[in-house]
Amino acid sequence: MNAVEIISKKREGRPLDPDEISLMVDGYVQNRVPDYQMSAFLMAVVLRGMTPDETLALTRTMIASGSSIDLSSVPGVKVDKHSTGGVGDKVSLILAPLVACAGVPVPMMAGRGLGHSGGTLDKLEAIPGFCTRLSKDAFVRQVLEIGCAIAGQTDDIVPADKKMYALRDVTGTVSSIPLICASILSKKKAEGTDALVLDVKMGKGAFLPSRGETKLLAQSLVELGNRLGIRTEAVLTNMDQPLGHAVGNWLEVLEAGNALQGKGPGDLMEVVFALGGMMLLLGGKVRTGGEGIRALHPILESGQAFEKFLSMVNSQGGDAIVVERPDRYPHSAPRFALKSPCSGFVGGLNALEVGQLAVMLGTGRMKQEDSVDPSAGIVFYKKTGDGVQAGETLADVYTHRGDIERFSQRLMKAYSFSETPVSKPAMAEGFVDANGTIGIPMSNPDYS
Ligand code: URA
Repeated sequence: MNAVEIISKKREGRPLDPDEISLMVDGYVQNRVPDYQMSAFLMAVVLRGMTPDETLALTRTMIASGSSIDLSSVPGVKVDKHSTGGVGDKVSLILAPLVACAGVPVPMMAGRGLGHSGGTLDKLEAIPGFCTRLSKDAFVRQVLEIGCAIAGQTDDIVPADKKMYALRDVTGTVSSIPLICASILSKKKAEGTDALVLDVKMGKGAFLPSRGETKLLAQSLVELGNRLGIRTEAVLTNMDQPLGHAVGNWLEVLEAGNALQGKGPGDLMEVVFALGGMMLLLGGKVRTGGEGIRALHPILESGQAFEKFLSMVNSQGGDAIVVERPDRYPHSAPRFALKSPCSGFVGGLNALEVGQLAVMLGTGRMKQEDSVDPSAGIVFYKKTGDGVQAGETLADVYTHRGDIERFSQRLMKAYSFSETPVSKPAMAEGFVDANGTIGIPMSNPDYS
């Protein structure tokens, strides 16, 4: 079979065998298959889907395109956490040191901002000097010595994903369950983790806004992860509105630092504890997720988790002093405050609108080569369910870019108001297993 025949076979909805998938992927990585053929192939996959066996074959081929990290020198069950991308999602910055303090090693290979969603690497790089490019040896050493490391994918880890992802980004082929599953899990397998907790975002700011598709994504990720030999769990969490108060790279580091000192906002901490409890369970430290949650509280309160975060920052070349003393960070004062036009209650705060505006303010990239402004962003004082008075500040906006009038109008569009009380959304809906069953909601601390 040649590339044209394989594309045609997929276009007709016929399943491909592993050799045909390898021919496309290896051919693309080795420049025998050009961009235009790969684009057609990816679009055929978007439209026709893939069976679980095809997705497994695709993932294995992608893993084999590069090298993998060997974490066998690190004792214990290594557990990572990965989110499908959201707005204000600084959970990784909190969970890696927190879970490491509980004795579970956390090797975390993270990504950059994508579209309207922020990226853990961009947030960490807001800390002056912080290096996210660790060699494989340095990554393993740090997990061994400190218990956690958060770094970017090195050039030789799943090069097929790097090349295919860049193409998907510009050909409208990101939103495909098999392609997302293969992309995420090829990197997780190559990173060498034993277990994985996936935070699958659901709602207006999620990758796949439909609830049914999001649930299917969670189910497919769990099934594929387990077939690859990674013990995988997925949690569905709410991404209708931004998580926590802060959106923007440095502002989110600050909020994560506060959360690590026991001062995190309720919605953010609900997600942190739901995922963290499960990480401890998978790491073999507790018998139930609820026990895991209860084990994490005293660690946060003791200040150990914040100390661990500072050690990680130090070890990766970052300036831990500014994390401890944020007043020393050279960030600008807010450019404008958004005031409430009415009295009543916040009916909603659209995460997608906020994420898109944040990119315009400078937190993310419009084009691959754009640089990000670490200090740009928004701090929200009023979110869904909060009562407001006319003229009260809803949010402070930080940006070095112009057009404040337009930014202000755009942010106002993200808000809706109600005259009657509105309930606050539950953050963690439940675990999804490989059969698509949703388990006990995480808001219950005895969730398993
Ligand atoms: N994150 C990834 O790493 N890959 C995708 O395809 C989507 C989100």
